[in-house]
Amino acid sequence: MENELFYDKKTVWDSLTEEQESAMMDYAEGYKAFLDAGKTERDAVRYLTAKAEAKGFVPFTRGMAVKAGDKFYSVNRNKGIILTVIGKQPLSAGIHLTAAHLDAPRIDIRTVPLYEDSGMAMFKTHYYGGIKKYQWTTIPLELRGVVCVVTDEGVRSVDISIGAKPEDPVFVITDLLPHLAAEQMNKTMLKGIAAEQMNILIGSKPSKNEDEKTDRIKLAVLEFLNKTYGIKEEDFLSAELSCVPAFNARDIGFDRTLIGAYGHDDRVCSYPAATALLDLTETPEHTCMAVLVDKEEIGSDGVTGMQSRFFDTLVGDLCRAQDVLFDECIEHSVCLSADVCNAYDPNYPEVSERRNDARINCGLALVKYTGARGKSGASDATAELMARMRYCFNKAGITWQTGQLGKVDQGGGGTVAMFMANRNIDTVDAGVPVLSMHAPFECIAKVDLYMTYLGFGAFYNM
Ligand code: MN
Ligand code: MN
Repeated sequence: MENELFYDKKTVWDSLTEEQESAMMDYAEGYKAFLDAGKTERDAVRYLTAKAEAKGFVPFTRGMAVKAGDKFYSVNRNKGIILTVIGKQPLSAGIHLTAAHLDAPRIDIRTVPLYEDSGMAMFKTHYYGGIKKYQWTTIPLELRGVVCVVTDEGVRSVDISIGAKPEDPVFVITDLLPHLAAEQMNKTMLKGIAAEQMNILIGSKPSKNEDEKTDRIKLAVLEFLNKTYGIKEEDFLSAELSCVPAFNARDIGFDRTLIGAYGHDDRVCSYPAATALLDLTETPEHTCMAVLVDKEEIGSDGVTGMQSRFFDTLVGDLCRAQDVLFDECIEHSVCLSADVCNAYDPNYPEVSERRNDARINCGLALVKYTGARGKSGASDATAELMARMRYCFNKAGITWQTGQLGKVDQGGGGTVAMFMANRNIDTVDAGVPVLSMHAPFECIAKVDLYMTYLGFGAFYNM
């Protein structure tokens, strides 16, 4: 396959210099710190806000002057963040956008969650996103989120994070012992664990208050929560609490070239989208934006998802400050929908397409279309845009590849791409290939992460 007429994927390792390798390994350390701190979209937003402020970004407010070199951030309800660097050209020349998501599949705590049964206190849950339920039993879980407490004075938010520190307790969803699981083992993997069985074990010690004849274990949990956070049972009604895996990002392999972690999808694209923007050393020609949203895993709906008008309102405000037409800015904009794709897994060749699926270590993956059943629900990027990105990445010396979602008619999926494209923005998916996507412990290659960082940097400067 040496003939230049042939096309084949190239591994990043073939062209990586020693200097690049060491920069790549360093970059991965920063990413791992982000993963451990940002296990929910709220945590990720907090982390990135601090990083942006440290780089001189200021919160954008309507009416501010907007000139070349200005650096802004805009937080959407604590669950999404947009980072902007104003370019030399006016906004009518369009924005170079990356759009990634900060939410990840997880186990949400229900609105009325707390109960006691057979000597144990439990939380009822409702899973979030596309999960294989059996993967979420018998693993350590941590509790993260916010409880909005209503007092006589008004409303106060209480942040909760239990299970991240080594000395913290963790939580768990129990599973049946094999000795009694004959019937369960004969069920399909879809039905082996039912959603209503995914209750979280949170305690077993009764309260000392003997006035209560029943529910004393539940009461003991409430006494703990009240003493520690000042909350009572009714406060769960206005809470967003989630259980996420209680293990941190770790290197995988003798050579430490891979990272295993919760939530690579899509923090492995959010992080390079944000850091490539924060690391811009010179004012770019075009205005650049990293749009990091919530709710992608459940369809991008809602006030914090990519379909929300939050993005349009911000772009409208920026355009007005430069006396530029919003529609003109949008039609000249280009978007990389920065999301993960499946990495070819040799353990499951039967669902994969060898020539078209992305491969670990072959760099940033451009995905022309996603969708299912004949590209349904896909934003099929134009040939012209694909060529533009090829030119951009090749010129910058980025090792990149293309990806697709397995065999045709094997399944399918989507990203935020179509929601950007529907706005009249040229959009193509680009991101990091992932093994075990949506599992509590996903796997990516460090060189793919690094090429994505370099690739997004080249795109911002395109
Ligand atoms: Mn994703
Ligand atoms: Mn996903």
